[in-house]
Amino acid sequence: MLESFADDFFGFLSAAPSPWHASEALENRLRIAGFRTLEPGKPFPCDRGGKFLLRRGGALVGWVVPTQAPARLLLGLAHTDSPCLRLRPDAESISHGCRKLSVEAYGGLLNHSWLDRELEVAGRVCFEESDGVREVLVRPRGLRPIVPSLAIHLDRAVNERGLVLDRERHLPAVCGLQDGRSFLSRLAESAGTEAEHVLSWDLCLGDGAPPALVGSGDLVASPRLDNLASCHALVAGLEALEPRSDTLVAVAFLDAEEVGSTSSVGADSVFLPQVLERIGLSMGLDRAAFLAWVSGGFALSADMAHAIHPNHPERHPPGHSPLLGQGPVLKWNAGLRYGTTAVGASRLRRLAREEGIPLQGFAMRADLGCGSTVGPLVSRQLALETVDCGAPMLAMHSARETMALSDQFLCTRLYQSFLRRA
Ligand code: ZN
Repeated sequence: MLESFADDFFGFLSAAPSPWHASEALENRLRIAGFRTLEPGKPFPCDRGGKFLLRRGGALVGWVVPTQAPARLLLGLAHTDSPCLRLRPDAESISHGCRKLSVEAYGGLLNHSWLDRELEVAGRVCFEESDGVREVLVRPRGLRPIVPSLAIHLDRAVNERGLVLDRERHLPAVCGLQDGRSFLSRLAESAGTEAEHVLSWDLCLGDGAPPALVGSGDLVASPRLDNLASCHALVAGLEALEPRSDTLVAVAFLDAEEVGSTSSVGADSVFLPQVLERIGLSMGLDRAAFLAWVSGGFALSADMAHAIHPNHPERHPPGHSPLLGQGPVLKWNAGLRYGTTAVGASRLRRLAREEGIPLQGFAMRADLGCGSTVGPLVSRQLALETVDCGAPMLAMHSARETMALSDQFLCTRLYQSFLRRA
């Protein structure tokens, strides 16, 4: 059972090398499960018991309409983007015999982990056609940029001093020899056009190696576990969901979390509130009923949590040190970097207890800055009760991260139960 679960998980991770690929992979799965894709410009239908999705860029919202009048709203939240290097608009240059791609950091990546890896280019390209501009997703197969580290012989003190990388000077990727094919021509070929027709792109550079079982087959090493693992667990719950009687269940997979969620499809935009309002209108709610419906809702914000690192145990405060392989983690922060409150936590704890799923707890050391996620932003915008939860992992924001397969399985079960009966 865990084997076929791992195959499904790895298939999803492999299909999503960029947020735009992630929203495509989510749409493909949901359509197979009977969800209907809606056009953004058309009114939403109001079929009782209907399953719908709206996709925009790297974001997607899927929902299941109840069979009776909606009295409750249940919301799942996750983000589709991950830290990576992003290619600049005029990325390619020739330098000392090599073709180089200039980059900027997207999110808080661990710089060193991008070195000496076979990287993959993936994202979207816009190009000109006779009747307008076309956007396609690309991941040129034969293109494997690499950011080679500097030989020890040319920097003898590096191991004692520690590796300090300047992102501007040290992270541009080598993408071939100066006499080889240009990056642009390879990209155009992958997009199905000519180089001169390419107008613009959004492209990520991430680890090109596929997900793998490591350790004794109980650990997963993969790029983008933060936060594709949560997307996978939530979409598995959504696609298996039968319509509820009076509860509308929606799951929002949002983009741009790693850079502050302020894009047009991030958690700190009006994207989700507008989609919910349109859903409310389609169900015949007036403004007052809509506001009451939303503010009485409950959201589970799913994002990864820091497991205690066996080589760095001092980085966690006592009693709040989640272990790999011991189940989902409730995340709490006094400064509200997570959306969890006592009320939300209690509801999730009770659900987990009834399902026999262990729940661990995480809080940041008081002298270290805490990360954040989409939970508090959506909670603030919609004024609803929220709980932040996620699978424990190591090496968050590395090009290749590590988690336990069993934690992914337990998170999937927990999120499934949340959508089905919270
Ligand atoms: Zn995250």
